[in-house]
Amino acid sequence: MMPLAIAVPADVAELRAAIVSSMNPVRFLAGGTDMLIVGRALPEAGLLIDITRVADMAFISTDGPDIYIGAATTVATVASHAGLRARLPALCNAAAQCGSVQIRNRATIGGNIANAAPAADLMPVLTVAGALLRLIGRDGMQSEIVLGDYTPAHGLITDVILPGAGLLRRSAFVKLGPREDLAISRLNLALLADFQDGCFGAVRIAAGALSHAPLILSFAEAALSGRKLEAAVLRDFLSTLAAEVDAAIPGRNSQLYKRRAIAGLGLDLIAQALGLSPRDRLFEEAVE
Ligand SMILES: Cc1cc2nc3c(=O)[nH]c(=O)nc-3n(C[C@H](O)[C@H](O)[C@H](O)COP(=O)(O)OP(=O)(O)OC[C@H]3O[C@@H](n4cnc5c(N)ncnc54)[C@H](O)[C@@H]3O)c2cc1C
Repeated sequence: MMPLAIAVPADVAELRAAIVSSMNPVRFLAGGTDMLIVGRALPEAGLLIDITRVADMAFISTDGPDIYIGAATTVATVASHAGLRARLPALCNAAAQCGSVQIRNRATIGGNIANAAPAADLMPVLTVAGALLRLIGRDGMQSEIVLGDYTPAHGLITDVILPGAGLLRRSAFVKLGPREDLAISRLNLALLADFQDGCFGAVRIAAGALSHAPLILSFAEAALSGRKLEAAVLRDFLSTLAAEVDAAIPGRNSQLYKRRAIAGLGLDLIAQALGLSPRDRLFEEAVE
């Protein structure tokens, strides 16, 4: 096989041409924060395409009914985008908690998806938001798939699409890490919900770091959907969260720790989504 070749396309046409014309395996390099880690095997042959110079792959568009995010958009840009915060604050919150300033300035949303680490912080939010991915395949053809179906064999992610119809009015993201800053999640939770007149409407919840991919917590969703915000309902919600952990990682060393930790995270999630203080009396009653 030929030694590793590097391509640095300037636009999507050059990018597509590089993908299609290579007879060898093709890999993509974005921020390099997952790929260029000391000790991790680097591609040694084939074609490595640096996508960081491709025009029109780093952008966020929130003006239309659907939200579009270019795959080479940095996590720092996702964290600080005012239009995105107005429509899906949970994604900005998740991005703001990814790694350090240096990591966020290089890491991209496409890399977070393609790397698909169980603890990847953007993934639970993208899952509850029903994200679609626009791709360029090895044959140069464009296609769209749902986030959960993506594997690296599908090729290059060019855009992340968040259909407006799937976005609910409230959203939140919380994470538990081994320390305050620069921590890979031990557990994270994302929520999208409708909430009106003291009552939950539709609710979607996903957890990271409980499985190889974000896990939809359907029992926890059902514990809130259509119910009033009151201590008894929150108590039910906390029981279902613990049961979800038990079902996801039975017998795992971290099971006991995570089934306790998820209660605090769950209440923080509700507080953030509804703009309440985590010290609100209601939350104290829920754990009494
Ligand atoms: C110190 C440190 C702390 C970190 N903390 C966190 C954290 O708190 N939360 C978190 O979620 N992550 C964290 N990460 C992981 C990492 O920063 C993210 O996963 C990041 O989003 C990866 O993006 P990247 O652009 O750097 O990917 P790269 O390293 O460039 O690529 C990663 C993989 O994705 C592929 N790829 C990249 N872009 C595309 C694309 N558009 N289409 C198809 N394939 C693509 C590459 O081929 C490669 O296989 C941390 C990493 C480090 C080193």
